Amino acid sequence: MKKMALHWKILIGMVLGVLFAFILLWTSWGSEKVVLKEIPASYEIVQEVINGEIVSSFKEIKAKTVEVTRAEHFISRWVKPFGTIFINLLKLIAVPLILASLIKGISDLKDIAKIKKMGLRTIGIYVVTTLVAIIIGLGIVNTVKPGEGMPKETIEKIKEKYVNSDGVKDKMTKAAAQKDAGPLQALVDIFPQNIFKSLGEAKMLQIIFFALFLGICLLLIPAEKAKPMIDIFDSLNEIVMKMVDLIMLFAPYAVFALLANVIVAFDDPEILMKLLSYGLCVVGGLILMIVFYLIIVSVYTKKSPLWFLKQISPAQLLAFSTSSSAATLPVTMERVEEHIGVDKEVSGFVLPVGATVNMDGTSLYQAIAAVFIMQVLTPEDINFQVQLIIVFTALLASIGSAAVPSAGMVMLVIVLESVGFDPALLPVGLALIFAIDRPLDMCRTVINVTGDATVSMVVAKSLGKLHDPKPKNWDDNYQPEES
Ligand code: ASP
Repeated sequence: MKKMALHWKILIGMVLGVLFAFILLWTSWGSEKVVLKEIPASYEIVQEVINGEIVSSFKEIKAKTVEVTRAEHFISRWVKPFGTIFINLLKLIAVPLILASLIKGISDLKDIAKIKKMGLRTIGIYVVTTLVAIIIGLGIVNTVKPGEGMPKETIEKIKEKYVNSDGVKDKMTKAAAQKDAGPLQALVDIFPQNIFKSLGEAKMLQIIFFALFLGICLLLIPAEKAKPMIDIFDSLNEIVMKMVDLIMLFAPYAVFALLANVIVAFDDPEILMKLLSYGLCVVGGLILMIVFYLIIVSVYTKKSPLWFLKQISPAQLLAFSTSSSAATLPVTMERVEEHIGVDKEVSGFVLPVGATVNMDGTSLYQAIAAVFIMQVLTPEDINFQVQLIIVFTALLASIGSAAVPSAGMVMLVIVLESVGFDPALLPVGLALIFAIDRPLDMCRTVINVTGDATVSMVVAKSLGKLHDPKPKNWDDNYQPEES
């Protein structure tokens, strides 16, 4: 019997996860509210400036109880952990995979001029696709104007519910930490001082720098001295790719858990409906981006767009389920190398760099969200100059966004600040889009991953490194002894 394709298995897992959550929410048991004591009492140190001096004191934070449905309680305790295990496993192999495939890839390229060419081309194309995404976003939000005429009561309701929520506060704190760094800090951060620390903390750009550095040095030392090291990374690369195959056997069950958890965690469907036109603008823009990628695939690489979608779909489905391009990276690499036919030396560089700096979906969302918030709160401030600033800051903000859930919203604060948005209104702005952020995050992560895969194909084609794929199965080399 023909085996069912992986993307179908994952899709079935997702659909069943959604159904399971809805059924649970519809039962009287599942919809009952339970009180959770979630945050225990604690203390925080508060620093104030009194008479020009910094005075520290302790402030008691009272224990907080949270009410959730029994369905959410059950799923977060008994179902979600399986999704977390899966994400942990993917993250576990991401660092060795980047290291091994990049070092092996660079040593295979055998030519520093080629590395430079690949690097410049990759960054150049990434900047262009991100700019296209932002321009599409701005075009849509200015045409549809989803923020115009939002009733005062809706704004008040959203404000009341989310302005002081932990989610919004968390984004504001993280954004403040980002902003405090100097203008060149992002550049300084690429150069590690302790590679073991970078590996431990999964600092992607630092690991990429180290792998490039090591790979280039392998090309500069005598071949017989370089060979043992290259062989080790070659072998490690094969092993980690096999780990991806094995972990993916678990994917259909993991997406069940992840999606069930997303559904039970949605809180207010009514608010969600109020934000529908904004949400549809983002989703519409993201669909246009997919069309843009498919045109590039078809025109430049001469591959069938449907074939491309089919090959990359498991990575897209995981991006949707995990909302993290970093967690999806091992699967993106496996699909692009083994199922699309991009050579390791290209995918090993283009994809990890892309997962970190190229976020077309995020930049499109940031452009739409920034203008939407202004349409609702400060419509008089929207002008051409503001939109031009958004183009550049959304480009930088998407580069600076971490490849983890809801990172795009943190950097949105910085986009809004750069256009002179009233700081006092920032929490209100974030509150406006907070309720619908998770589903949009899931969608934009799909685009982030698809964009990286498209660019890797383009770069590979331009360097003559796009070949016929040779898919591998997890048990290709497994020969159990006959007993
Ligand atoms: N979740 C996105 C990613 O991992 C980033 C974001 O837009 O929040 O690609």
